[in-house]
Amino acid sequence: MVEEAVSTQPYDVVIIGGGPAGLTAGMYAARANLRTLAIAGETSVSQVTITDIVENYPGIPGGINGFELAERFKTQAVEFGLQTASGDVTGLVRKDWGGLAGWEIAAGEARYGALSVVVATGATWRRLGIPSEERFIGRGVSFCATCDGPFYRNREVAVVGGGDTAIQEALFLTRFAKKVTVIHRRDRLRATGILQKRAFANDKIAFAWNSVVESIDGLDLVQAVRLRDVKTGQTRDLAVSGLFIFVGLTPNTAPFQGALALDAGGYIQVDANMQTSVPGVFACGDCTAKRFRQVVTACGDGATAAFSAQLHVEELKGEAY
Ligand SMILES: Cc1cc2nc3c(=O)[nH]c(=O)nc-3n(C[C@H](O)[C@H](O)[C@H](O)COP(=O)(O)OP(=O)(O)OC[C@H]3O[C@@H](n4cnc5c(N)ncnc54)[C@H](O)[C@@H]3O)c2cc1C
Repeated sequence: MVEEAVSTQPYDVVIIGGGPAGLTAGMYAARANLRTLAIAGETSVSQVTITDIVENYPGIPGGINGFELAERFKTQAVEFGLQTASGDVTGLVRKDWGGLAGWEIAAGEARYGALSVVVATGATWRRLGIPSEERFIGRGVSFCATCDGPFYRNREVAVVGGGDTAIQEALFLTRFAKKVTVIHRRDRLRATGILQKRAFANDKIAFAWNSVVESIDGLDLVQAVRLRDVKTGQTRDLAVSGLFIFVGLTPNTAPFQGALALDAGGYIQVDANMQTSVPGVFACGDCTAKRFRQVVTACGDGATAAFSAQLHVEELKGEAY
């Protein structure tokens, strides 16, 4: 749904992204009486909506389905007056709004005016691109050990990848799982020395070298993965209840390349107030350069970004006190 094809009056705040970060920013901005629009992607979804159960969001003992949590975020924000639209934002350009410096945001055919912008476009976990992968997400296939590790107490799991994240997460998983097999396409790890040392010393961790996952098998839940040795071509089945894939995270920041300062990994650089390299543009959640990417941290960032946007707009309109 596109709310208005061309806005004649700018919004105080336009938020790009409809996940936990964007919707929390939307709630705070709308509640501060700012005219606020949140644009959620048309061809992408919030990561939380593909999460079967979120157990670590405070205040919800017993956990909650990720899609339901996202709906609750949206309902609460809309109650305070947040307007919503959907569309894939392709970029933003500077625009003067009757003497006030702002932005015009392009999403397909639609254009939205804004006095401040909050980027909350999240990130996408790279997939292996094999059959059944999508079907088993939340049913044994996971991209987050912190989130899903506790579901695998005393069970056997596998981790795909050989970098820092993969090995760190494999080590974390040994707190719960009976056995963790690290599946890596090469014959040695890429992870830093100290992590390698810890992994090799941990007797719960086994390695499947020179191996790739060819298929993920099971009825409703993951029961096994089929591995192919890239050197010999031989295949074998590995019985696991969980497959944790850590072959890289890509921030959804392509539309902002050249406009905002990004780090080497493509994440948006922000200060403690979620200010980007460009005044009036803020960023929050998984698309930003930071250490820990979770729903609760995305929400915290979103609240901060909204408050910074509020101060920016008040300053711009001469309403600051
Ligand atoms: C399988 C899985 C399980 C997880 N489990 C947990 C858990 O149990 N607990 C926990 O705390 N965290 C969990 N996480 C992490 C958590 O989901 C993320 O940290 C959180 O969703 C980040 O919120 P965000 O708003 O920054 O980004 P996202 O939730 O990714 O939302 C990004 C939003 O931006 C939109 N967007 C992207 N590009 C554009 C564009 N060009 N134009 C317009 N809109 C765009 C998308 O459509 C989406 O609405 C999990 C993640 C995954 C993948």
